[in-house]
Amino acid sequence: MAAIAELRDLLGSDRVLDDPLERRLYSKDASLMRGDPVCVVFPGDAEQVSAIVRIAARHGLPVIPRGAGTGLTAGASPMTGGIVMSMTGMNTIEIDPDNQAAWVGPGVINLDLSKQARPYGLHFAPDPSSQSACTIGGNLANNSGGPHCLAEGSTTSHVLGLEFVTADGQIHEVGGLAPDQPGLDLRALLVGSEGTLGIATRILVRLLPIADDVRTLLLDFPSVEDAARTVSDVIAAGMVPAALEMMDQRMVMAVENWLGAGLPTDAAAVLLAEVVGSTATVESEASIIAEIGRSNHARNVVIAVESEDRELLWKGRKSAFGAIAQLAPDYYLHDTVVPRTRLVETMAGVYEIADRHDLTMLNVFHAGDGNLHPLIAFDSSDEDVARRVKLAGEEIVDLCLSVGGALSGEHGVGVEKRDLMPSSFSALDLDAQARIKDVFDPDHLLNPAKVLPQGSRCFDFGGVRREVPEGAWV
Ligand SMILES: Cc1cc2nc3c(=O)[nH]c(=O)nc-3n(C[C@H](O)[C@H](O)[C@H](O)COP(=O)(O)OP(=O)(O)OC[C@H]3O[C@@H](n4cnc5c(N)ncnc54)[C@H](O)[C@@H]3O)c2cc1C
Repeated sequence: MAAIAELRDLLGSDRVLDDPLERRLYSKDASLMRGDPVCVVFPGDAEQVSAIVRIAARHGLPVIPRGAGTGLTAGASPMTGGIVMSMTGMNTIEIDPDNQAAWVGPGVINLDLSKQARPYGLHFAPDPSSQSACTIGGNLANNSGGPHCLAEGSTTSHVLGLEFVTADGQIHEVGGLAPDQPGLDLRALLVGSEGTLGIATRILVRLLPIADDVRTLLLDFPSVEDAARTVSDVIAAGMVPAALEMMDQRMVMAVENWLGAGLPTDAAAVLLAEVVGSTATVESEASIIAEIGRSNHARNVVIAVESEDRELLWKGRKSAFGAIAQLAPDYYLHDTVVPRTRLVETMAGVYEIADRHDLTMLNVFHAGDGNLHPLIAFDSSDEDVARRVKLAGEEIVDLCLSVGGALSGEHGVGVEKRDLMPSSFSALDLDAQARIKDVFDPDHLLNPAKVLPQGSRCFDFGGVRREVPEGAWV
């Protein structure tokens, strides 16, 4: 293919992969949808990204930016074919301690950034549970959250600026260190745009000081309702802990079988709460949370002070999805968000849906944000089970929307939630978003067929339309 020959001239043969096995390896992210790329390329800098985009445009090939492929909505899956652009080779980190900031390559692994910032007493606050693998470029594109985003905000609060390449190959820079940049906030537009408007090639991130002191609390409850009520009561008491996470009994058992993190397997639900600040503040806040927990029937409250004890508790939480491999070969992880005051009834509804469809469901989620992650463990080779999993997923989304929730809390829309967008946005809202896409990428070459459903433009303007083929779901 002529495009591949041109790409090899540009990057060298070792940075353009097109044999069937390699294409298969990059054919999907961590979701359940698979595409088929023409090839996979590994640029080293913004100029190469620009040149690749220009070659792709000449040959009418889509470009799908990819970080670590841990996304859960098929955002990095090449559903319309085209060139998968892996950003993992662009992974430099330049810490600017005086400005408490860093310029990083999009392929930097999230946890590596905090490790490198630690000697300066700084860290990168967004900490998705996938942080040992996912990249800052993927975090930016999905506006990712994490357990510690409850108090500090998701990725958009920590991106000060970025350099990016548009579909015509131009390199732009928006935002910067100076506060209150004039003009439209294009930085904010790019964050969360899921690779559909531009490809991030350098990212200026905010780093925050590491807290003086920390307490991590483990509270265990005889019912999910008691745990959920504790979450609402903590927030209603005017506190915003650094993190407030919930795991149900099935999830705790899976984690304990795998890791032995010391979580109580006989509890119906556990809450993991973290408070940060001065020693006086964390001690007072930890005792208030413990008290609220006890008033909601918490059986035990453990307050971990030493870093090894705290890390073990977090290891249990952050390894939860990995633990599922013991139960079933596949899982479908949902991501919706509901008002915290509706947590108790929503959780009851979610369990009812799983029971009705006779499915194994486990829950681990960012309870403080009302961000649910119902996880269905299953075997995708059983077509009937796969059908029921999909159906249950749609019902969960409907339930969450019916109590005033939103389609996605943090995983983004990708292909998975794309056709559900009209349930959250009016035709005019979708049209406005589609117009923005057309300004940045009139030929729909950058990550096409993602986020916006077909027909989002109110008036057909005759531009290029690409569609996800039938049968892409496993
Ligand atoms: C076990 C597990 C736990 C998870 N926990 C969380 C969690 O706690 N919170 C959370 O928010 N998410 C979580 N996720 C989802 C996922 O890890 C995040 O969405 C993450 O930010 C994706 O990063 P990535 O590097 O893997 O991106 P990818 O999956 O490779 O790509 C994600 C999207 O970003 C785009 N993209 C990638 N790089 C660029 C770039 N340079 N420029 C433009 N677009 C780009 C892709 O096209 C795609 O649309 C979890 C996933 C797993 C598997």
